[in-house]
Amino acid sequence: MASSSSAAPPRRLAVMTSGGDSAGMNAAVRAVVKMAIFRGCEAFVIREGWEGLVRGNHSPDGTPITTPALSRNNSGFFDSLDPRGRVDQQFGGAAQHGEAVAATAAAAAASTTVEGQFVPTYGEGEALREGVGEAQELGLRGRYIIRVGWDDVRGWMDQGGTLIGTARCKEFRTVEGREKAAYNLIVNGIDALAVCGGDGSLTGADRLRAEWPDLVASLLQKGRITDEQATRYAHLNIVGLVGSIDNDMATTDITIGASTALQRICESIDSISSTAASHSRAFVVEVMGRHCGWLAVMAGIATGADYIFIPEQPPQRGDHWSSEMCDVLRRHRELGKRKSIVIIAEGAHDRDLNEIKPEMVKDVLTHELGLDTRVTTLGHTQRGGKPDANDRILATLQGVEAVNAVLEATPETPSYVIGMTENKVTRIPLMHAVEQTQRVAAEIEAKNFDAALALRDPEFEEGLRAFKIISQITEANRLPADQRLRIGIIHIGAPAGGMNAATRTMVRYCLDRGHEPVVIYNGFNGLLEDNVSVLSWLRVDNWATRGGSELGVNRNLPDIDLGAVAAKFQQHRIEALLMIGGFEAFMSVKILDDNRERYPAFRMPIVALPATISNNVPMNEFSLGSDTSLNALVDACDAVKQSASASRNRVFVVETQGGRCGYIAVAGALAAGAVLVYTPEQGIGLQQLGKDVEFLKKRFALDVKGKSEGRLVIRNEKSSEVFTTEVITKILKEEGASLFDSRSASLGHTLQGGTPSPLDRIRATRLALKCCQFLEAKALESRRRTRRQQPGGSKADADGAAAYSDDTAVMITIQGAKICFATVKEMAKHADMKNRRAKKAWWHDLKALVELMGGRTGLGNL
Ligand code: ATP
Repeated sequence: MASSSSAAPPRRLAVMTSGGDSAGMNAAVRAVVKMAIFRGCEAFVIREGWEGLVRGNHSPDGTPITTPALSRNNSGFFDSLDPRGRVDQQFGGAAQHGEAVAATAAAAAASTTVEGQFVPTYGEGEALREGVGEAQELGLRGRYIIRVGWDDVRGWMDQGGTLIGTARCKEFRTVEGREKAAYNLIVNGIDALAVCGGDGSLTGADRLRAEWPDLVASLLQKGRITDEQATRYAHLNIVGLVGSIDNDMATTDITIGASTALQRICESIDSISSTAASHSRAFVVEVMGRHCGWLAVMAGIATGADYIFIPEQPPQRGDHWSSEMCDVLRRHRELGKRKSIVIIAEGAHDRDLNEIKPEMVKDVLTHELGLDTRVTTLGHTQRGGKPDANDRILATLQGVEAVNAVLEATPETPSYVIGMTENKVTRIPLMHAVEQTQRVAAEIEAKNFDAALALRDPEFEEGLRAFKIISQITEANRLPADQRLRIGIIHIGAPAGGMNAATRTMVRYCLDRGHEPVVIYNGFNGLLEDNVSVLSWLRVDNWATRGGSELGVNRNLPDIDLGAVAAKFQQHRIEALLMIGGFEAFMSVKILDDNRERYPAFRMPIVALPATISNNVPMNEFSLGSDTSLNALVDACDAVKQSASASRNRVFVVETQGGRCGYIAVAGALAAGAVLVYTPEQGIGLQQLGKDVEFLKKRFALDVKGKSEGRLVIRNEKSSEVFTTEVITKILKEEGASLFDSRSASLGHTLQGGTPSPLDRIRATRLALKCCQFLEAKALESRRRTRRQQPGGSKADADGAAAYSDDTAVMITIQGAKICFATVKEMAKHADMKNRRAKKAWWHDLKALVELMGGRTGLGNL
């Protein structure tokens, strides 16, 4: 990338966090800072949210201070950046920071930034990292707008909360407060602002955007800014990132922090469940969500709860809010359940908007059902602490997109909020997002509950429907006897988180509709041995939370004996089949599809649900199990990184599973903050390895002495036959000499994870439900067609008519913003059969992002 011209002043981009903290906010700040620096901007953080912006920077005697511009030297590089030294001059206290100042000064000797490249710089990140109390001690008192360098945000990825602080600011709700904020942005030369917060914070951002021309005019009129400043800052470039644990922002599927909060909730409820079952108790668990029931719905699905209360859909049945709940729990107890879990969102109410509180639910369960009931309010534990893999990746992708959006903004473009639809990062006009979010609250207030629900993302509504189907036992959905089916289910390949949750959904859906759920144990071998049974509603009750495969798996495909497999399908009268597994499941459906001519038994509708930690299924972006695996990888990497950091100058080469698919390595590297990643798709060449070694040498050489931290390199197990993990580790050790040493760690089967992540459990439920609906529709359509043909036609005609088209041998896939059924014939075109992976995958580009965030791209260019 070309250097910026020395004449053009660098853009100054600031990032702040506001409202309630959420896990992943630090990862977002890190991504914004790094991307801003990478794109040639000066990066700033604003401490304490809108409060910090309203206050601005003052010296201890109250005199306002502004941030002087950095100049560029002849090479186009910025002159040295040593904010702490500069601050010390201002405050006259250089001596009191002693060593820290010396270390910063040493780093500053090499401090330069140029578009597309960076040299690491410490600003005042250390002070921020140590917390607000120490930040004051370390010289940040009275200063809220702080210039930061690349290395200031090092190690922020796995930190919970927000290191730059957040606050609720009353003054910003007034025009006077917003004028002060505008003033502080302008006098500090900040021309782009990224705000990470919830709906309130982004409403504030929208207000600031809307009023900006008036605020600038008022400041000019009062003589607080110059004509030149008024012209230069005539337009506010602002972008929103949704950081909120409630997931309450309309127009985006998921917000930064929601996934981690859900993880914490599920961990708690999983623990509560075992004690509830031991004592045969009921528990009422309150979770966050004043206006939004997302956490309650998703936790309900993921933990297998019995009933939920949410603001968007108050109980609909009966004369009292408790009647439906009592019916549901009574039925469950009659079936023999020993535990009852009711989840209640903090904003729950009845249809007349009267609050429903946990103690009220407890009283009902105690007195009407005679259950020994306890209340648990999860409270602030839900804010999350350490972000999960999902929040780290989401925050990183969105942080990068936020910088791009704000730098591309023109006076004609709207201000955006960065969102997510399925797997696509989106830009939504801020004004629209805020309006839609406010409409949800307004619809609830007006008791238009269906309208409120419709404003949530489709996953929310689908989730709610799924929860009802799998948690309630009713006759209402049962099909007439002549439309009932025997639907088979089989697990293929290797275990992956979510397989059991999907099976539980399938069994319960079948029972809800009157079908028979026929489970096949131990794959196709089990089928040949008649290891088949029909499961009951209660039998699968605890399966949502169980890892591995309750049915058992192996890698044998149906071609172990096609004729015998066909005979067994016929013997067990299987009319539709759900197959859960990875590449083997795809191959199995393909084999059955390819042999439909020969074996009529294979002409039933067949759907595969991708489940594999490798995430190597073509045309599909996420397999069940890949999220669980990613979290296991990130947890392991955090521990390894800590060890590498404690040794100050160590590189850890971490080997991952994944077969010939580099997904888990690349996504893991992004989430764990690795500096390099090796994949089978790209392989490892001598030249590249040489450059990587040079990068590491430069990188460690630029570290401030004694402040170096460990670094991670992630290598997929099949990246190269020659450059094995051991060889790379030895090369790094040899080349690192006195700069760094190296160690290796192989994560092996730990990556299959223990308990499935909530996301995998939810995805399993949602996709399995769609698969069952698909199978039911196709099988009934085929049955109708067969019957129409039978009176006059032959048996062969009838068999031929039975579900025998390409669209009945499919896999359910997540593609961009959509969930689709792809035929195996189509999938085969996108598959690299030899390497058992997709020819092209969405995550291939993430490798470049890992290298950008790790500094490899910038330093490699120097
Ligand atoms: P959470 O989802 O955790 O509640 P939030 O961003 O919604 O996060 P709020 O307390 O609602 O949290 O808002 C944070 C700050 O944003 C407020 O303290 C205030 O400074 C600003 N803010 C909120 N609403 C407005 C508004 N209508 N106008 C101006 N500023 C606002």
